[in-house]
Amino acid sequence: MKRWKSLRIKINITGIVQGVGFRPFIYRMAVKNGLKGYVRNRGDAGVEILIEGTKNDIENFLKDLREKKSPLAQIHDIITTKLEGKNEYEKFTIYKSSSETELPGSVIPPDIAICNDCLRELRDPKDPRYEYFFITCTDCGPRFTIIEKLPYDRENTTMQDFPMCDFCRTEYTDPLNRRFHAQTVACPRCGPKVYLTTQKGELIKHEDPIREVGKLLSEGFVIAIKGYGGFHVATSTTKDAPLIRLRKVKHRSEKPFAIMARSLEAVKTFAEVSGKEAELLASYIRPIILLNKSEGYYLSDLIAPALHNVGVMLPYTGLHYMLFDKVDEPAFVMTSANPPNQPIVKDNEEALKTLGATVDYFLFHNRQIAHRCDDSVIRMHDKDLVFIRRSRGYAPAPIMLKEKAKRCVAGLGGELNNTACILLGNKAFISQHIGDVENIETRDFLEDATKHLINLTNSKVETVACDLHPKFTTTNLAHDLANENGWQLVQVQHHYAHVAALMVEHDVKEIVGICCDGYGYGIDGEAWGGEILLCTRESSGFERVAHLEKQPLIGGDLATRYPLRTTAGILYKKVNVEDWLLQNKEHFPHGESEIQIVLHQLEKGHNIIGTTSCGRVLDAVAAVLGICFERTYEGEPAMKLESTAIKGKDILKLKPTIKSNTLDTTQMLLEIFEKRKKYSKADLAYSAHAYLAQGLAKLAIEKAKENNVKTIGFSGGAACNEILTLTMQKTIEAAGLQFLIHKAVPPGDGGLSFGQAVVGGFFQL
Ligand SMILES: [Zn+2]
Ligand SMILES: [Zn+2]
Repeated sequence: MKRWKSLRIKINITGIVQGVGFRPFIYRMAVKNGLKGYVRNRGDAGVEILIEGTKNDIENFLKDLREKKSPLAQIHDIITTKLEGKNEYEKFTIYKSSSETELPGSVIPPDIAICNDCLRELRDPKDPRYEYFFITCTDCGPRFTIIEKLPYDRENTTMQDFPMCDFCRTEYTDPLNRRFHAQTVACPRCGPKVYLTTQKGELIKHEDPIREVGKLLSEGFVIAIKGYGGFHVATSTTKDAPLIRLRKVKHRSEKPFAIMARSLEAVKTFAEVSGKEAELLASYIRPIILLNKSEGYYLSDLIAPALHNVGVMLPYTGLHYMLFDKVDEPAFVMTSANPPNQPIVKDNEEALKTLGATVDYFLFHNRQIAHRCDDSVIRMHDKDLVFIRRSRGYAPAPIMLKEKAKRCVAGLGGELNNTACILLGNKAFISQHIGDVENIETRDFLEDATKHLINLTNSKVETVACDLHPKFTTTNLAHDLANENGWQLVQVQHHYAHVAALMVEHDVKEIVGICCDGYGYGIDGEAWGGEILLCTRESSGFERVAHLEKQPLIGGDLATRYPLRTTAGILYKKVNVEDWLLQNKEHFPHGESEIQIVLHQLEKGHNIIGTTSCGRVLDAVAAVLGICFERTYEGEPAMKLESTAIKGKDILKLKPTIKSNTLDTTQMLLEIFEKRKKYSKADLAYSAHAYLAQGLAKLAIEKAKENNVKTIGFSGGAACNEILTLTMQKTIEAAGLQFLIHKAVPPGDGGLSFGQAVVGGFFQL
């Protein structure tokens, strides 16, 4: 005889609740509380629960649900509905998933690094998954990169090619097992296999291919290794020869390579690691962190040439750990395998075709990658985390906002370091890193990633937002998508998008934004990049209230590649430019004849573009100091300048010269030019940073006071620069104003899609 009246409740849960062991968790809570019914995944990435039991038991269950959720789950909404009718269930069961898609805004989790339990089993000779490279459980393993469609069931992932053996199935169906309903469960008998091939793809029979690859790497061979979200190209970190070779074949003469260290202890032998950095390195996200090289840095200088820091991550799969087993190497180079201007390589055939000439061997596995995903890159400014690239471990988990957007918007980002963003209610879903969208491959990748994100989140997009630049590939794609789907199109000025991102991230209604980077198309069609914007949520949006002095780029884009041209433009008629250029003629690809053309153009004012870019000023300083004469990767001269400045001091103590809302940069460059032999490069490089940061801060403070605004923010790619950021912060806070930087999205163009989307979703259009 029942003492209590029995109730029936249906519960819908949205958030990150699939692929995180949520149903097993619900199962255990229901059984513990003596409830009957079912739990199942839904096609909208949410979870549906039906429970029958007494009021008291149900209340206890709901309490458990709120308080004890599995660590990787993220609950957004719990919607309960009381049902009529009699009880019909004999027990509590995990049901087959339904394909219903009703509620928007849930999503599947990012890929998760190997957990400690799996790592222990990997090393336990008695465990059935001893030394199995693809050991995973409900708490770890790939998620985002294996899902083809929802709900998150094995048959909807690239694990569908590997039917479970009896042993794995027993674990999968045992409610008390850690692998109960783990979709990636696999073992050496039934799961993916790893194999070694030559550069041509010919199989090399080896009983222990992973550790063989570790040995080959330590001997200096270059090997492509298939991971969760794509291929890495790996080699030794202690020898120069393979790095010289790799740089040559990859046409990457200077761009830093990321490395994977065997352990945190190993990292500490060559880099400085703060407590916070150590924690993040070892977290389940396992990002690449830019760490300062230590005094005794002993790895090859060819890994991150002329930079004070090096990008380091820790192993995040069983395979990665095993690479280090038979060698003493502290770390291996582990750089994303992507041909120039192409997305990271993810398919075996594609790898053979595009990497065969670069590498000596391949370490393949036979599980397909559904969606590519590059590693994330982070830097710490003192105690603040700065995203250089937000990708694996973060995408597609949403950024939670304080307010709900007025409409659902897809932001397509800019041309470089692209990402896409879906803004839905109070959630912003940012895609994995897409790359530089300059050709059909990356355009297709962006389009696929955007559509996949829309499907995953069950979003009904109404508006598509893109850059103002009329010729960007991303602008064209936005036009196409708007026409195809009947979406409203919104074009957002580059720097406005950056500052808007900052406003919504911190929920401020008005701000004076300092936005500095290399290039953004201005509303006047000119090249902007050192801007002070007054932005408000309510009125027309933004006003450009001040900027850096406009400087000439001789030969347009060529000046971006060869900073000597910018320097010549700025110092023309102030110093004997001809003499100085001739002293540096080896840095012009066509030597003296090119210099004569540059001088002719200067004289006639031909083929010159004006820009207020902060990046180009930093480039010019780098060239004057002989730090960098050719930009072989984005941001190179400015990054090397910062690395030089890091040990310097403000020797020149230049006072900011401001005339009609413009910060002078000519006089500053001239001072540095004239004193280049008197002081050290480090001190002069630091002085340039101090001048720009203090000058921009001074301008922003003036504008904030004029307009009675209490907050100043710093955004744009230059906000990755620690000296600029911290100097600005000091100046602005000393003036009694609040200083904001990005916490959730990259200050560079990886955060642009989010900025565009929030303008479309929150601001008056
Ligand atoms: Zn695990
Ligand atoms: Zn198995």
